[in-house]
Amino acid sequence: HIYLDNAATTPMAPAVIDAMTAQMQADFGNASSTHWFGRQAHTVLDLARTTLAASINAKPEQIVITSGATEANNTAIMQTAHARASLGKHIITTAIEHLSVLKPLAALEQEGFRVTYLPVNDAGEISLADFDAALDDDTILVTMMMGNNEVGSVMPIQAVGERLRKHQAWFHTDATQAYGLLAIDVAALGVDLLSVSAHKLNGPKGVGFLYRGDAVTIAPLLRGGEQETKRRAGTENIPAIAGFAAAVDLVTPAEKAARQAKYFGFKQQIIDALTAANVEFAVNGTVKPGNLNHVFNLWLPGCSTYAVQTNLDLAGFAVSGGSACTAGSLEPSHVLTAMYGADSPRVSESIRVSFGATTTSADIAAFASALIKIVTKLRKH
Ligand code: PLP
Repeated sequence: HIYLDNAATTPMAPAVIDAMTAQMQADFGNASSTHWFGRQAHTVLDLARTTLAASINAKPEQIVITSGATEANNTAIMQTAHARASLGKHIITTAIEHLSVLKPLAALEQEGFRVTYLPVNDAGEISLADFDAALDDDTILVTMMMGNNEVGSVMPIQAVGERLRKHQAWFHTDATQAYGLLAIDVAALGVDLLSVSAHKLNGPKGVGFLYRGDAVTIAPLLRGGEQETKRRAGTENIPAIAGFAAAVDLVTPAEKAARQAKYFGFKQQIIDALTAANVEFAVNGTVKPGNLNHVFNLWLPGCSTYAVQTNLDLAGFAVSGGSACTAGSLEPSHVLTAMYGADSPRVSESIRVSFGATTTSADIAAFASALIKIVTKLRKH
């Protein structure tokens, strides 16, 4: 079986498993305990936090370790709205955010907050003119993903950050998909809050972090003990945190750039194979070097997502119909709907192929030839 669903999750790297195993065997102490075992665990935690902070040019005390990006997004959005409701009730986001952003925003709308969902074009990109028109004196938060998990489009984070420097609104970005591929410097970007998850970059599931700039004063989402300097209660998952740091160590700036280039080549390889075989298809979004190149979304006219995905699965290739969180439901992708309209056949005839650190050009060649056979067969019926 060949795994091409790395936007859903990635396999853990051997170095990550080693780091986690070492923690599980040796440093099982509670990092809050004051005895030797606790201090050992705390040392691991401190080292990991330093690694996580350095990866985005932040200070260690600005990193709050969470159970993943869902918790980081919920914390950033719900707690900012509640902390700042007296300053305004307006929030700006995009139509193509992950559900862990859209659902908290829907809950806030129920509470009386006003949310502007910026539209996207057929490349999955927002326009800064729309953003400028939406921003007003009532805006207290902008939450905009760095890169999209279904089509790989990248948002103009730096330009929005510039615009917000003299505005009261705090700026949150969900960098879950972008973090393993793009160089991120929170100071240069002008973001106040940033979410990351370890399992998208060959780390373990169930751990991530929320970066909080010094100006951000929000209450914890999880209340209880005084862990994470009182910003997130709950006994720290030291093995997972050590694994997270080991995963981050693997994605050096040079490695990120190398992966971007490699994945861009994979897209071209698939396009060339389908074109050579005269298979009708279209890319959802665009193919350009600066996008998140690990995500490739293809429209295969006349072939249902379900049929292509199931046939690929039987042939030994794992791809997805969109975001994994909604894969179990028959709801059409809100991302493709925002890009092409609910009536477009693209919303029910597309697959997402996503590459990872272990994907090879031979995997891609085998995948492309399987896809050509499947699409040709389905179109005959
Ligand atoms: N945000 C984006 C863009 C994602 O792709 C995901 C993936 O699952 C998440 C948030 C949620 O992350 P987690 O699985 O760590 O909760």
